[in-house]
Amino acid sequence: MQELRWNPLLGTWTIVAANRQNRPNMPKDWCPFCIGSGKVPDEYDVLLYSNDFPALSQTAPEPRSENNDLYMSAKAHGKCEVILYSPNHAAKIYQLTPEHMLKLVELWTSCCASMVKDTLIQYIFPFENRGAAVGVTMPHPHGQIYGYPFIPLKIKTELAQCKQYFEKTGANMFEEMISLERSAGARIIFENDYFIAFIPYFTDYPYGVFIVAKNKRLLLTDFNLEEKKALGVAIQDVVGAFDTLFDKEFPYMMCFHQAPVNTEEVYHAYYRFHIEFYPPWRNDEVIKFYASSETGAWAATNTRSVEESAEELRQAYKKYKHAQ
Ligand SMILES: [Zn+2]
Ligand SMILES: [Zn+2]
Repeated sequence: MQELRWNPLLGTWTIVAANRQNRPNMPKDWCPFCIGSGKVPDEYDVLLYSNDFPALSQTAPEPRSENNDLYMSAKAHGKCEVILYSPNHAAKIYQLTPEHMLKLVELWTSCCASMVKDTLIQYIFPFENRGAAVGVTMPHPHGQIYGYPFIPLKIKTELAQCKQYFEKTGANMFEEMISLERSAGARIIFENDYFIAFIPYFTDYPYGVFIVAKNKRLLLTDFNLEEKKALGVAIQDVVGAFDTLFDKEFPYMMCFHQAPVNTEEVYHAYYRFHIEFYPPWRNDEVIKFYASSETGAWAATNTRSVEESAEELRQAYKKYKHAQ
């Protein structure tokens, strides 16, 4: 069973991917992403790895469940790609050389560029889950890219808010956020030529860093070479600061927010490429769970002062840069 089912209460699709249940149990200590596994070439630096059990696929079957006004189903059409960052099982993203990191950004970009060609795909979402705390069973450094046949609800909400703000004020919300964060100062972690990293005023995750493009860019494919290099460094610097903070590997979800694709709508005036990190740690011992209020009511609580957690992370960033 693989299909989309409409959730009429929320007005969005649920991806039913019961095919993923059939994933074989991997032998212990065996990693498909390591050279010699038989699943990857004998040599690679970064690699697009074909996902054996994609939740969305271009060969998805016809939906089988009921179809009426309320309970609709649709094909789980789309793509799910796996991106390997390095052949080294224990590599950390910030240990990759600048040339290697650029190759990774180029691979994310070319993968997005090829997904856009499928005109049924409406939203392309590169992301990474890192650490057992967010359910990762395969520690080999890798991320994923999903191409959805719809615009996911969180993105839809962001776009609607940004558009409304633009219509009311004539301003791009991301430009305003950057300028407010700069005038406050306390929540900025660092800036480079093309990106700014800060923990936004409103974050629900104590260390929920945003990396925002300073130029008017919507998609990975909009970036020139210098911007791609700077994006790679910005991501390495955030993760380097995370790992320095408690001197251990920091779990996180890293989510790229781009504009939708294959649409007539023009987003430049009101939206902007950015990355959102969701690290589930409150401190070095306590996990922040998305529990009843967050999951059941979408009412978030941040139990830390953002200005304090940003200060800690800024100090960790300085220490990390100093040690380089
Ligand atoms: Zn491995
Ligand atoms: Zn966003």
